[in-house]
Amino acid sequence: ARPFDAASIRRDFPILRQYVHGKPLIWLDNAATTQKPQAVIDRISSFYENENSNIHRAAHTLAARATDAYEAAREKTRRFINAPSTNDIIFVRGTTEAINLIAQSYGRRNVKKGDEILITWLEHHANIVPWQMLCAETGAILKVAPVDDKGQVRLDEYEKLLSRRTRIVSFTMVANAIGTVTPAKDMIDMAHRLGSCVIADAAQAVSHMPVDVQALDCDFLVFSGHKVFGPTGIGVVYGKQQVLEAMPPWQGGGNMIADVTFEKTIYQPPPGRFEAGTGNIADAVGLGAAFDYLDTIGMANIAAYEHELLIYATEGLKSVPGLRIIGCADEKAGVFSLVLDGCRSEDVGAALDREGIAVRSGHHCAQPILRRFGLETTVRPSLALYNTFDDIDALVAALRRISVSQRFRAR
Ligand code: PMP
Repeated sequence: ARPFDAASIRRDFPILRQYVHGKPLIWLDNAATTQKPQAVIDRISSFYENENSNIHRAAHTLAARATDAYEAAREKTRRFINAPSTNDIIFVRGTTEAINLIAQSYGRRNVKKGDEILITWLEHHANIVPWQMLCAETGAILKVAPVDDKGQVRLDEYEKLLSRRTRIVSFTMVANAIGTVTPAKDMIDMAHRLGSCVIADAAQAVSHMPVDVQALDCDFLVFSGHKVFGPTGIGVVYGKQQVLEAMPPWQGGGNMIADVTFEKTIYQPPPGRFEAGTGNIADAVGLGAAFDYLDTIGMANIAAYEHELLIYATEGLKSVPGLRIIGCADEKAGVFSLVLDGCRSEDVGAALDREGIAVRSGHHCAQPILRRFGLETTVRPSLALYNTFDDIDALVAALRRISVSQRFRAR
């Protein structure tokens, strides 16, 4: 791995060279999506220049090249999360499609009336709504593990909610709205003791920390390529082999079949069974390039650097008059939810934009957890490996100016 140097890493991301409203762009909206290194952009354009074809290896030369590139991306994905086999890696559109696939395939097969599905208060809407839909279809009951005032899952309550009726537990590894890191390994082990299947939503985890599906022992792990410096429109379902093999297909069509007659269709084994139709070949290849890029830096180095940045940012933000940080879990990653006294989140977001600083303001597709803290919206700066201590200084200085001018107006 190369020595960690955020300023040099930043130069790998061409979009970060631009000016917004005459100010150098500071990208602190990483929880919504991350920027792409030149290596990913080049890989996608090289795919379209040299390899583009549908993936039927035997048909002709470009088909073989495209198939090799797509399957190489699957192998890079396998390695990134330490899955045992490439057969355990399914390419989908993103985390949302990943969770819907699991709910509709595994869920419909295994969840019956009166069964329970357990999530937490920290979840993104993508890990709430598909379960509500499954419950409406099956008569199952959705249970929600509460969080404490720091925004941490209450493990005692979580354990009480687990029972022999729990068929599926699905929870986030990092809360997208407030940054809590959940004790994933403990939560998975507790659920397994009662025989439940467990899904880890790693959408916000993969860009910040090493993720190892074998160490976690989760049944499924899902994430989106665009949040880990890869393209939009590509995401991943990891599933344990024996779990995937027992699952029916979700969508039917080309590629997912071994043989079709009007009387009967025989499906491919996983992963093909779950990849109906022409997938997002070029962006899968681009995602593979993102993993190669991250390999040159090392996820453990990224986690260590971001930890320093997080501590520095926490101290800086606490010094801003009238600023409240929502959620102060003992373990946090990459995300701050902020409220500035007397200011609307949207106004703070717009004022930061005028300074070249991009943050999200709104409900972050996680209304229940914000409402748990009595809020409808917050301002959410979120970090990535290319953010520097200077970025944090600029954010803190800008928030201070916004806070002071608000106070002045309020007088
Ligand atoms: N889960 C979490 C924790 C997320 O942060 C997000 C994206 N904000 C999603 C799921 C949904 O991801 P996507 O929109 O890429 O499908």
